[in-house]
Amino acid sequence: MNIYHPQTPLEAVMLRKENADTAVYFAGGTDNLRLGGAAEGKDLIDINSLGMDKIEIRGDKLYIGSRCTLQDLVECDLIPDFIREAAGFCASLARRNAATIGGNLGLRRDDSYLAAALTAADAVLDCMTPHGENKKEIGTYLQSKCKALIMAVIIDKNRTGWVKRFGNTAASHAAVIAAQSSDIYALSIHGSGIVYGNSPDIADSVTYCDDITGGAAYKKYLAEIAFTLRR
Ligand SMILES: Cc1cc2nc3c(=O)[nH]c(=O)nc-3n(C[C@H](O)[C@H](O)[C@H](O)COP(=O)(O)OP(=O)(O)OC[C@H]3O[C@@H](n4cnc5c(N)ncnc54)[C@H](O)[C@@H]3O)c2cc1C
Repeated sequence: MNIYHPQTPLEAVMLRKENADTAVYFAGGTDNLRLGGAAEGKDLIDINSLGMDKIEIRGDKLYIGSRCTLQDLVECDLIPDFIREAAGFCASLARRNAATIGGNLGLRRDDSYLAAALTAADAVLDCMTPHGENKKEIGTYLQSKCKALIMAVIIDKNRTGWVKRFGNTAASHAAVIAAQSSDIYALSIHGSGIVYGNSPDIADSVTYCDDITGGAAYKKYLAEIAFTLRR
Protein backbone atom coordinates (compact mmCIF):
# COMPACT_ATOMS: atom_id res chain seq x y z
CA MET A 1 0.00 0.00 0.00
CA ASN A 2 1.27 3.49 -0.90
CA ILE A 3 0.43 6.56 1.15
CA TYR A 4 0.55 9.85 -0.73
CA HIS A 5 1.02 13.10 1.20
CA PRO A 6 -0.27 15.92 -1.02
CA GLN A 7 0.51 19.49 0.05
CA THR A 8 -2.61 21.15 -1.37
CA PRO A 9 -6.26 20.16 -1.99
CA LEU A 10 -5.66 20.42 -5.75
CA GLU A 11 -2.72 18.03 -5.51
CA ALA A 12 -4.94 15.61 -3.57
CA VAL A 13 -7.73 15.67 -6.13
CA MET A 14 -5.27 15.23 -9.02
CA LEU A 15 -3.81 12.17 -7.27
CA ARG A 16 -7.33 10.80 -6.91
CA LYS A 17 -8.02 11.44 -10.58
CA GLU A 18 -4.80 9.75 -11.69
CA ASN A 19 -5.50 6.76 -9.43
CA ALA A 20 -9.28 6.68 -9.76
CA ASP A 21 -9.72 2.95 -9.14
CA THR A 22 -6.75 2.37 -6.89
CA ALA A 23 -6.67 5.15 -4.27
CA VAL A 24 -9.04 6.81 -1.77
CA TYR A 25 -8.78 9.88 0.45
CA PHE A 26 -7.59 9.14 3.96
CA ALA A 27 -9.29 11.31 6.61
CA GLY A 28 -10.16 9.84 10.04
CA GLY A 29 -9.50 6.32 8.77
CA THR A 30 -12.43 4.73 10.65
CA ASP A 31 -13.63 3.10 7.46
CA ASN A 32 -10.40 3.06 5.48
CA LEU A 33 -8.50 1.17 8.15
CA ARG A 34 -11.03 -1.57 8.77
CA LEU A 35 -11.21 -4.92 7.01
CA GLY A 36 -13.67 -4.69 4.14
CA GLY A 37 -13.58 -0.87 4.18
CA ALA A 38 -13.46 1.42 1.16
CA ALA A 39 -9.66 1.34 1.13
CA GLU A 40 -9.13 -2.41 1.18
CA GLY A 41 -6.41 -3.15 -1.35
CA LYS A 42 -6.06 0.52 -2.25
CA ASP A 43 -3.56 3.32 -1.79
CA LEU A 44 -4.27 6.21 0.55
CA ILE A 45 -4.21 9.94 -0.20
CA ASP A 46 -3.61 11.51 3.21
CA ILE A 47 -5.63 14.74 3.48
CA ASN A 48 -4.85 15.34 7.14
CA SER A 49 -2.24 18.07 6.64
CA LEU A 50 -4.42 20.22 4.38
CA GLY A 51 -6.21 22.19 7.09
CA MET A 52 -9.98 21.96 6.46
CA ASP A 53 -10.54 21.58 10.20
CA LYS A 54 -12.29 24.81 11.23
CA ILE A 55 -15.91 25.61 11.99
CA GLU A 56 -16.59 29.27 11.23
CA ILE A 57 -19.34 31.73 10.40
CA ARG A 58 -19.07 33.72 7.19
CA GLY A 59 -22.00 36.12 6.81
CA ASP A 60 -25.20 34.12 7.25
CA LYS A 61 -23.45 30.80 6.49
CA LEU A 62 -21.67 28.27 8.63
CA TYR A 63 -18.59 26.61 7.12
CA ILE A 64 -17.70 23.23 8.60
CA GLY A 65 -14.26 21.99 7.52
CA SER A 66 -14.44 18.49 6.09
CA ARG A 67 -11.85 17.19 8.59
CA CYS A 68 -13.96 18.18 11.59
CA THR A 69 -14.82 15.08 13.53
CA LEU A 70 -18.31 14.01 14.51
CA GLN A 71 -17.33 14.84 18.10
CA ASP A 72 -16.27 18.35 17.01
CA LEU A 73 -19.81 18.77 15.66
CA VAL A 74 -21.44 17.42 18.83
CA GLU A 75 -19.44 19.86 20.97
CA CYS A 76 -19.77 23.01 18.85
CA ASP A 77 -22.48 25.53 19.80
CA LEU A 78 -22.39 27.04 16.31
CA ILE A 79 -23.74 23.85 14.75
CA PRO A 80 -27.56 23.62 14.52
CA ASP A 81 -28.96 21.26 17.16
CA PHE A 82 -30.35 18.68 14.73
CA ILE A 83 -26.99 18.32 12.97
CA ARG A 84 -25.28 17.85 16.34
CA GLU A 85 -27.85 15.21 17.20
CA ALA A 86 -27.17 13.41 13.90
CA ALA A 87 -23.41 13.39 14.60
CA GLY A 88 -24.23 11.81 17.95
CA PHE A 89 -25.90 8.88 16.17
CA CYS A 90 -22.38 7.44 16.04
CA ALA A 91 -22.61 5.74 19.42
CA SER A 92 -18.89 5.12 19.93
CA LEU A 93 -16.94 8.06 21.41
CA ALA A 94 -13.69 6.62 20.06
CA ARG A 95 -15.12 6.55 16.53
CA ARG A 96 -16.76 9.99 16.88
CA ASN A 97 -13.34 11.36 17.84
CA ALA A 98 -11.76 10.11 14.61
CA ALA A 99 -14.57 9.98 12.03
CA THR A 100 -14.87 13.15 9.93
CA ILE A 101 -17.84 14.83 8.30
CA GLY A 102 -16.08 14.63 4.91
CA GLY A 103 -15.44 10.90 5.29
CA ASN A 104 -19.00 10.29 6.32
CA LEU A 105 -20.38 11.96 3.20
CA GLY A 106 -17.63 10.56 0.95
CA LEU A 107 -18.68 7.02 1.83
CA ARG A 108 -22.28 7.66 0.67
CA ARG A 109 -23.62 5.02 3.07
CA ASP A 110 -27.33 4.33 3.10
CA ASP A 111 -27.18 4.39 6.92
CA SER A 112 -25.03 7.53 7.02
CA TYR A 113 -25.19 9.33 10.35
CA LEU A 114 -25.25 12.73 8.69
CA ALA A 115 -26.57 12.44 5.14
CA ALA A 116 -30.31 12.85 5.88
CA ALA A 117 -29.86 15.77 8.29
CA LEU A 118 -27.42 17.63 6.03
CA THR A 119 -29.59 17.00 2.96
CA ALA A 120 -32.63 18.40 4.78
CA ALA A 121 -30.44 21.34 5.80
CA ASP A 122 -29.85 22.02 2.09
CA ALA A 123 -26.09 21.82 2.61
CA VAL A 124 -23.72 22.82 -0.13
CA LEU A 125 -20.30 21.17 -0.44
CA ASP A 126 -17.27 23.32 -1.13
CA CYS A 127 -15.22 20.92 -3.25
CA MET A 128 -11.86 20.86 -4.95
CA THR A 129 -12.12 19.35 -8.41
CA PRO A 130 -9.41 18.86 -11.06
CA HIS A 131 -10.76 22.07 -12.61
CA GLY A 132 -10.58 24.11 -9.41
CA GLU A 133 -12.92 24.93 -6.55
CA ASN A 134 -16.59 24.20 -7.10
CA LYS A 135 -19.79 24.22 -5.02
CA LYS A 136 -21.97 21.11 -5.19
CA GLU A 137 -25.47 20.57 -3.87
CA ILE A 138 -25.31 17.73 -1.32
CA GLY A 139 -28.20 15.68 -2.74
CA THR A 140 -26.57 15.63 -6.17
CA TYR A 141 -23.19 14.73 -4.69
CA LEU A 142 -24.57 11.83 -2.65
CA GLN A 143 -26.25 10.31 -5.68
CA SER A 144 -23.20 10.63 -7.90
CA LYS A 145 -19.81 8.96 -8.01
CA CYS A 146 -18.06 12.32 -7.85
CA LYS A 147 -14.48 11.95 -6.63
CA ALA A 148 -13.94 15.61 -5.77
CA LEU A 149 -12.35 16.43 -2.43
CA ILE A 150 -14.91 17.89 -0.02
CA MET A 151 -13.19 20.83 1.69
CA ALA A 152 -16.12 22.23 3.67
CA VAL A 153 -19.82 21.70 4.26
CA ILE A 154 -21.82 24.95 4.12
CA ILE A 155 -25.21 25.45 5.77
CA ASP A 156 -27.33 28.41 6.87
CA LYS A 157 -26.05 29.34 10.30
CA ASN A 158 -29.55 29.58 11.81
CA ARG A 159 -30.96 26.46 10.17
CA THR A 160 -33.49 24.57 12.30
CA GLY A 161 -34.94 21.12 11.79
CA TRP A 162 -35.23 17.68 13.31
CA VAL A 163 -33.75 14.24 12.72
CA LYS A 164 -34.88 10.83 13.89
CA ARG A 165 -33.01 7.53 13.75
CA PHE A 166 -34.60 4.06 13.86
CA GLY A 167 -32.34 1.08 14.57
CA ASN A 168 -32.35 -2.03 16.70
CA THR A 169 -29.69 -0.60 19.03
CA ALA A 170 -27.64 2.62 19.18
CA ALA A 171 -24.64 0.70 17.85
CA SER A 172 -26.31 -1.28 15.06
CA HIS A 173 -26.89 -0.05 11.51
CA ALA A 174 -29.85 2.31 11.21
CA ALA A 175 -32.87 0.95 9.37
CA VAL A 176 -34.22 4.43 8.65
CA ILE A 177 -33.03 7.97 9.38
CA ALA A 178 -35.54 10.74 8.67
CA ALA A 179 -34.92 14.48 8.74
CA GLN A 180 -36.81 17.62 7.91
CA SER A 181 -35.70 21.22 7.75
CA SER A 182 -37.77 24.05 6.27
CA ASP A 183 -39.60 22.44 3.32
CA ILE A 184 -37.01 19.71 2.66
CA TYR A 185 -37.67 16.12 3.70
CA ALA A 186 -34.91 13.50 3.57
CA LEU A 187 -34.76 9.78 4.25
CA SER A 188 -31.81 7.39 4.47
CA ILE A 189 -33.16 3.87 4.08
CA HIS A 190 -30.85 0.91 4.65
CA GLY A 191 -30.61 -1.10 1.45
CA SER A 192 -32.39 1.56 -0.60
CA GLY A 193 -30.30 4.73 -0.37
CA ILE A 194 -31.23 8.33 0.26
CA VAL A 195 -34.29 10.15 -1.07
CA TYR A 196 -35.32 13.75 -0.55
CA GLY A 197 -37.88 16.25 -1.77
CA ASN A 198 -40.39 18.88 -0.75
CA SER A 199 -43.12 16.55 0.48
CA PRO A 200 -43.36 13.80 3.11
CA ASP A 201 -44.65 11.59 0.28
CA ILE A 202 -41.02 10.84 -0.66
CA ALA A 203 -41.44 7.68 1.45
CA ASP A 204 -43.75 6.35 -1.32
CA SER A 205 -41.03 6.57 -3.97
CA VAL A 206 -38.66 4.13 -2.25
CA THR A 207 -38.22 0.46 -3.17
CA TYR A 208 -37.80 -1.16 0.25
CA CYS A 209 -35.95 -4.41 0.87
CA ASP A 210 -35.57 -7.01 3.61
CA ASP A 211 -32.15 -7.04 5.24
CA ILE A 212 -30.36 -7.30 8.56
CA THR A 213 -31.89 -4.02 9.83
CA GLY A 214 -35.48 -5.15 9.27
CA GLY A 215 -38.13 -6.18 6.78
CA ALA A 216 -39.23 -4.05 3.83
CA ALA A 217 -42.70 -3.51 5.31
CA TYR A 218 -41.18 -2.41 8.64
CA LYS A 219 -38.89 0.14 6.98
CA LYS A 220 -41.75 1.44 4.82
CA TYR A 221 -43.87 1.88 7.93
CA LEU A 222 -41.08 3.78 9.73
CA ALA A 223 -40.41 6.02 6.75
CA GLU A 224 -44.09 6.91 6.49
CA ILE A 225 -44.77 7.56 10.16
CA ALA A 226 -41.54 9.50 10.74
CA PHE A 227 -42.95 12.53 8.95
CA THR A 228 -46.47 12.07 10.32
CA LEU A 229 -45.44 11.86 13.94
CA ARG A 230 -42.45 14.13 13.57
CA ARG A 231 -40.78 13.84 16.98
C1 LIG B 1 -17.79 -0.59 13.31
C2 LIG B 1 -18.13 0.55 12.38
C3 LIG B 1 -19.47 0.92 12.24
C4 LIG B 1 -19.81 1.99 11.40
N1 LIG B 1 -21.12 2.34 11.30
C5 LIG B 1 -21.47 3.41 10.54
C6 LIG B 1 -22.83 3.83 10.44
O1 LIG B 1 -23.75 3.22 11.03
N2 LIG B 1 -23.11 4.90 9.69
C7 LIG B 1 -22.13 5.60 9.02
O2 LIG B 1 -22.43 6.60 8.36
N3 LIG B 1 -20.84 5.20 9.05
C8 LIG B 1 -20.48 4.13 9.80
N4 LIG B 1 -19.17 3.74 9.84
C9 LIG B 1 -18.20 4.31 8.89
C10 LIG B 1 -17.36 5.49 9.33
O3 LIG B 1 -16.92 5.35 10.67
C11 LIG B 1 -18.02 6.86 9.21
O4 LIG B 1 -18.87 6.96 8.09
C12 LIG B 1 -16.99 7.98 9.23
O5 LIG B 1 -17.67 9.23 9.33
C13 LIG B 1 -16.04 8.01 8.07
O6 LIG B 1 -15.14 9.12 8.27
P1 LIG B 1 -13.54 8.96 8.25
O7 LIG B 1 -12.99 10.34 8.41
O8 LIG B 1 -13.09 7.97 9.22
O9 LIG B 1 -13.33 8.44 6.76
P2 LIG B 1 -12.12 7.55 6.15
O10 LIG B 1 -12.23 6.16 6.66
O11 LIG B 1 -10.81 8.23 6.29
O12 LIG B 1 -12.55 7.61 4.62
C14 LIG B 1 -13.70 6.94 4.18
C15 LIG B 1 -14.01 7.31 2.73
O13 LIG B 1 -14.43 8.66 2.63
C16 LIG B 1 -13.75 9.31 1.55
N5 LIG B 1 -13.40 10.64 2.03
C17 LIG B 1 -12.76 10.95 3.20
N6 LIG B 1 -12.63 12.27 3.32
C18 LIG B 1 -13.18 12.82 2.20
C19 LIG B 1 -13.34 14.16 1.72
N7 LIG B 1 -12.92 15.23 2.43
N8 LIG B 1 -13.93 14.35 0.51
C20 LIG B 1 -14.40 13.30 -0.20
N9 LIG B 1 -14.28 12.01 0.19
C21 LIG B 1 -13.67 11.79 1.38
C22 LIG B 1 -12.50 8.49 1.25
O14 LIG B 1 -12.23 8.50 -0.14
C23 LIG B 1 -12.82 7.11 1.78
O15 LIG B 1 -13.23 6.25 0.77
C24 LIG B 1 -18.80 2.67 10.67
C25 LIG B 1 -17.46 2.29 10.81
C26 LIG B 1 -17.13 1.23 11.67
C27 LIG B 1 -15.67 0.84 11.79
